[in-house]
Amino acid sequence: MAPRAKSSSSLPQPAGAQVLRVLPAVDECLKAAESDEALRGFSRDYLKLAVQRALDGLREMIAAGRHDAPERREQMAAEVIRRVRKLVAGDEPGLKPVVNATGIVLHTNLGRALLAEPAIEAVERAARSAVNLEYDLATGGRGDRDTLIEEELCALTGCEAGTVVNNNAAAVLLALSTLADGREVVVSRGELVEIGGSFRIPEVMARAGARIREVGTTNRVHPRDYVDAIGPETALLLKVHPSNYRVVGFTAEVGLAELAEIGRAHNLPVMEDLGSGALIDMAAYGLPREPIVRDRIAAGAAIVTFSGDKLLGGPQAGIVVGRHALIERLNANPLKRALRCDKLTIAALEATLRLYVRSRDLATELPTLRLLRRALAEIEIAAARAREILAERLGPEFQIEIVDSTSQIGSGALPAEELKTRALRITHRDLAEDAIAALFRGARPPVLGRVRDGAFMLDLRTVEDPAALAVEFPSRTNR
Ligand SMILES: *Cc1c(COP(=O)(O)O)cnc(C)c1O
Repeated sequence: MAPRAKSSSSLPQPAGAQVLRVLPAVDECLKAAESDEALRGFSRDYLKLAVQRALDGLREMIAAGRHDAPERREQMAAEVIRRVRKLVAGDEPGLKPVVNATGIVLHTNLGRALLAEPAIEAVERAARSAVNLEYDLATGGRGDRDTLIEEELCALTGCEAGTVVNNNAAAVLLALSTLADGREVVVSRGELVEIGGSFRIPEVMARAGARIREVGTTNRVHPRDYVDAIGPETALLLKVHPSNYRVVGFTAEVGLAELAEIGRAHNLPVMEDLGSGALIDMAAYGLPREPIVRDRIAAGAAIVTFSGDKLLGGPQAGIVVGRHALIERLNANPLKRALRCDKLTIAALEATLRLYVRSRDLATELPTLRLLRRALAEIEIAAARAREILAERLGPEFQIEIVDSTSQIGSGALPAEELKTRALRITHRDLAEDAIAALFRGARPPVLGRVRDGAFMLDLRTVEDPAALAVEFPSRTNR
């Protein structure tokens, strides 16, 4: 059951105060609930929560002076049981499917990448059965969960070794804590970014025990800035993909290859936090270009970190690839044990990586890529159908137009790039856009769109099957 809403603190009306005093006690109602036929079999704790909620509701009803509020104790007890039955019947899990009509393909608040079918099947198999997560079937000895995905990572990125943790923030933390604890990390001032959702590079570095040696200015950094900053305390040269923002205009950056050159001359590893970390060339699929992990390894990065659920299109995970000796040190850090992934994540990630290696049609099989590449003509057809469905459900008071719009990729990937799309622009004579958004949020299942330019919009890029919009709206009389 969802957390209890705070009960209203408003004082009851004097007339209501009288009535409130005869409200039945929790224990009395609980006893009645436990002997109610429709509530048989539920735990006492669960019923107690429901009784408390029902009483809260009743109290509010009385305090508001509602004419239909019961006045006598027996009526109240019956009303509480009626409410408990309703609560129990309508009690849905807190985490539930929603319709993502924001057009944002990798929406962090909506769980980012949708998994490919083989990954979903792999998760289900692993959930149902014991698996060889850390068991070497050849020797009968202890195995390592990372070896299940390492071969694919090496094949896909050209790295010597790889490891995986719960998310990219954890990957960055693990790498910095292993390679730079108590020492200095040289990083460009323009790359000390906040990624959103409270991931700030300087704070993660501090948590990892690394001291930041900022070089350059916000917009410009030169090779000599790095060279001048290197000293006996330096452990690492760091590069960070700015992900969700761009510095444009009078700018200068030191490229990875050049930085790797400086690193080699001073015997220092270069680490890059790539964020999205595409495994393939997005431009080859007609999408905006994004740095490819393989190219960064080839350019000389000793360690590259990236997310599993951004452009890669897999489960939430943080992947670290790079030199064998460094990955070994990461794996020996006790933090690795705290940050390691469970069997479900490993199952989904392995299946997703196998698709990259083996699929004959990745652009169809990987939902992230499929949604990013959806043709405008196809989105248009979905929009027309969605419009019909919603017009029928919403009635003539709503106007629904199909308009040109743009979708974002999301999760800080390619922020400056937007993809052309078609959206439904929904307006109402009396309802403001926020009220329309609330109406859609209240639907079953909830539909999430965007409020843009003073209107509520549903972007069909992220709705592959318009039938998903055949939702139930809360009955208007209840609003
Ligand atoms: C997204 C991102 C992160 C955080 O990754 P999560 O997988 O969300 O933990 C870290 N660094 C960069 C550059 C990012 O883009």
